[in-house]
Amino acid sequence: MKDYLVKALGYNGMVRGYSLCATAVVQEGASRHETASGATVALGRTLIGGLLLGATLKGDDKLTIKVQGDGPVGSIVVDSNGHGTVKGYIKNPQVPLQADAAGNLSLPATVGTAGTLSVIKDLGLKEPFTGQVPIVAGDLSQDFTYYMAVSEQVPSAISLSVLLNEDASVAAAGGFMIQVLPGADEECIASIEASLQKVPNMAKFIAEGVTPEEILQKILGTDVEILESMPVEFVCDCSKEKFATAIIALGAKEIEEMIVEDHGAEAVCSFCNRKYHYTEEELQALKDEALG
Ligand SMILES: [Zn+2]
Repeated sequence: MKDYLVKALGYNGMVRGYSLCATAVVQEGASRHETASGATVALGRTLIGGLLLGATLKGDDKLTIKVQGDGPVGSIVVDSNGHGTVKGYIKNPQVPLQADAAGNLSLPATVGTAGTLSVIKDLGLKEPFTGQVPIVAGDLSQDFTYYMAVSEQVPSAISLSVLLNEDASVAAAGGFMIQVLPGADEECIASIEASLQKVPNMAKFIAEGVTPEEILQKILGTDVEILESMPVEFVCDCSKEKFATAIIALGAKEIEEMIVEDHGAEAVCSFCNRKYHYTEEELQALKDEALG
């Protein structure tokens, strides 16, 4: 199944649903950063969360998610937007899934159970919107759910799911977000809560070929109205020119040091791990630009 996201309405417009298959997105994140199992699931779930929150944005608005837990993977940063593209990185990509006190492999033991989840939204206004909540679970699904309830005041059920193969490669990944709109009655909420139990592990369904639309039908019923479907992709927009601009901003003195001491420079994009090399001649040209 190709990666894509669907937006839908259910319960006569009282409930909004988002659902996506993101297997290739999570695979791309894992291969870009050469992640071990723990970092694959932690970064993967945050990428899926980024796409779900991004799907609520309009036009060219974009957002950055920062998960700063006290677990061994360290901080996770994900950038997303309303066009279905996402990119991200994790501080310690080599961390495998950690065992909890009972000896079971656990994402909270890997991400941490204390710290913060922050969302910075650039909505084209003067000031970005920033929301921050404490990490409440460390499995990220509950943490994103808590963020939506507390910071955005939209009661939501969020599930982020990454299924690994035995060799720790990505078998399937996906997620959903169900939002109850003002006006939804108790009966509707109770019915959805019961239906959520039918999708305990979304990635497993995706691995079996169940589509994002069918997932929403399981949760919201067969009269769910699909509004939109769009492809999602891990894309980094970095370029040699963008890093050149950053080098120029360092100033002529710093660039001169790179020429004299290192005889060149290498820039590494933290989002996609792509490397850009600058020769002495190229640095000389950037130094001239820095001098104006
Ligand atoms: Zn990049």
